[in-house]
Amino acid sequence: MTVDGRLPAGTTAVAAVVGDPIRHSLSPELFNAAFQRCGLDWVFTAFEVPAPRIGDAVAAMRALPLRGLSVTMPHKASVVAHLDGLSPVAARLGAVNCIAWESDRLVGHSTDGAGLIDALRLDVGFEPEGARCVVVGAGGAARAAVAALADAGARRVVVVNRTAARARVAAGLAGDRGMVGTSGAFADAELIVNATPLGMHGSAPAGMPVDVALLSPGQVLFDMVYDPPVTPVVAAAREQGVDAVVGIGMLVHQAAHAFSLWTGEAAPVEAMSLAATTELARRHDARAE
Ligand code: NAP
Repeated sequence: MTVDGRLPAGTTAVAAVVGDPIRHSLSPELFNAAFQRCGLDWVFTAFEVPAPRIGDAVAAMRALPLRGLSVTMPHKASVVAHLDGLSPVAARLGAVNCIAWESDRLVGHSTDGAGLIDALRLDVGFEPEGARCVVVGAGGAARAAVAALADAGARRVVVVNRTAARARVAAGLAGDRGMVGTSGAFADAELIVNATPLGMHGSAPAGMPVDVALLSPGQVLFDMVYDPPVTPVVAAAREQGVDAVVGIGMLVHQAAHAFSLWTGEAAPVEAMSLAATTELARRHDARAE
C-alpha cells in the first residue's frame, strides 16, 4: 500500500534494494514506512541479485526506471563499475550503498558513515569531534566508519582487525589520525565501534568482537550489529557500566540519507526508526516461539 493505504498504481514510483541474500533486509519496512508517512506515491521492494548479475540490475534501474536503489552485500564494490559517477565519499571508499539519479546520470553514494555519525550524535548523544576512537574490523562498514569518524574530527581512529593488511588500508582512510592497534587500545578509547559480524543472528561466527573486561564506565560501545536487538557484546558491556548500543540507529540514519537523495525531502526518521525496531522485535519474538 502507498499513500492513504491505496494499492500501487501506474503512477507509483518504485525503489528497491539489491543483494544476495536479501530476504532478511529491513529496508522495505523502513522505506515503505517513510513513503507512507510523507504521503509519497512510492513503493519499495527487495530483489535477490547474484554477484555476477549486478550490471544487469543497474541496467534494469535505467530501463524501468527505478527511482532509487539501495545496494548491499555482495555488490557494494562491484557496482561502482556500472555507474556514471560517484559522490566524493563513495569514490574515497570505492564502495556504494545507494544509487540516485542526478538528471540522467546514475550516481553512487555511501551513506553508512554519515548514518553512523548521525546515530552517535542524535541517538547516543556522543560527539566524535576530538574523541579517541577504536574501530574493530576492517571490511566495508569499518572503512566507512573510519573515514566518517576522521571527517567528523576524531582525535585518533585505531583499527583493530584480525587481518593486519586490511587494518592498514582501513586506518589509512583517517590519514595521520589513523593507526593500526591491538586490544590494548580499548582501555583509553572514548568510543569503540564493532564493525565485524560477530554476535549477529544467523550464520555469523561465534565469539565476542571486544573483550569487555578491558572496558569501563564512561566509554561508549557502538555495535553495528542490530539483530538480535541486544547483542551479546552489548549485554556484557552494559554489565560493566558501559554505554552500549546496537546499530539499528545507523541503519535508520543511512536509510534517511538515501531517502533524501531519492526524493529531495527530509526523511521522517522517527517513523523509520519505529518501523525498523518493530519489525526487528517481531522477528526476534517469532524466533523465540
Ligand atoms: P565485511 O566487509 O565482510 O568485513 C567483516 C570484518 O569482520 C572484517 O574485517 C573481518 O576480518 C572481520 N571478521 C569477520 N569474522 C571475524 C571473526 N570470526 N573474528 C574476527 N574478525 C572477523 O563486512 P561489512 O560489510 O564491513 O559488515 C560488517 C558488519 O557490520 C556486518 O555484521 C554488517 O551487517 C554490519 N553493518 C551494519 C550496518 C548498520 O547500518 N548497522 C551497516 C553496514 C554493516 P578480516 O579482515 O580479518 O577478514
